[in-house]
Amino acid sequence: MQLLERAQRNCPVCGSSPDRAKIFFDEHIDSSKLNEFSFASRKEPEYLCYQMVQCSSCDLVYVDRPPSQQALAEVYHAADYDSSEEADDAASAYARVIRPALRQLKLGRALEIGTGTGVFLDKLKQLGFETVAGIEPSTAAIAAAPAHRHDWIREGIFVEGDYEPESFDLICCFMTLEHVREPAEITRSVMRLLRPGGAFVTVTHDYRSIVNRLMGRRSPIIDIEHMQLFSARSIAALFDRNGYTNVQVKPFVNRYSLRYWTRLAPLPSGIKSFAQQTIATLGIAGIKIPMNVGNTVALGFKPSNQRA
Ligand SMILES: [Zn+2]
Repeated sequence: MQLLERAQRNCPVCGSSPDRAKIFFDEHIDSSKLNEFSFASRKEPEYLCYQMVQCSSCDLVYVDRPPSQQALAEVYHAADYDSSEEADDAASAYARVIRPALRQLKLGRALEIGTGTGVFLDKLKQLGFETVAGIEPSTAAIAAAPAHRHDWIREGIFVEGDYEPESFDLICCFMTLEHVREPAEITRSVMRLLRPGGAFVTVTHDYRSIVNRLMGRRSPIIDIEHMQLFSARSIAALFDRNGYTNVQVKPFVNRYSLRYWTRLAPLPSGIKSFAQQTIATLGIAGIKIPMNVGNTVALGFKPSNQRA
């Protein structure tokens, strides 16, 4: 299987050699369990992961021997997709998060990298953007999108050359930077595609957050899908090193249903199904609960005097 053919790389944020990095997670791969569901969005946690190391210079945790970009493109293309309610909750949370930044932006054109079913594109429209576009590799996610979004979504992996330079006011990338081989390459491409003064916004997991540290090996951040994991310091480094200004990094609160929190909870499966049945019986499974689940929102601007 192509996912098992791997080559060593340097830190994908700062370029430091992995020789100076320390082991952060041991490899935990069962190749018989590797399938398209391993790469679906928000599936049951499976606790599979490649070895990850921690960069001593920028604090990034990353897979030092990842599969090829081609292999990743293929699995994401084939990835299955579920959960429209959670996707909608997440999109509402993202909309709340970017609202303060909008005062500084022209509400012209916006792009979302890793748009899924494009649910956030609807939010961008509601927030006042004239034109919205999304890019998504999963055929299943796009097939699940309602008809009115189909014109907005391009199927495939994000490629800078598919877009006009300096043509976007806002580019968003939510829970996607962990999944790509080259996060710095994307960050530089985004800079070139933004108009001067335009903004790049990301949401990423924070491996240093209390939730993720408490959950340890059972945290959903430990996943074969993740090619790297950021902390507040390493996501700021990604923005700073690539020329963004007014960079802001802060914790992010999601509001999801109790049903979803229970599904994510690191409980033995017997106890988990009992809890799931109980909340369903009590009729409280749909209650929305805000929680800091250890995610970070980062925002940075293209300097307004800078040409691409
Ligand atoms: Zn680094």
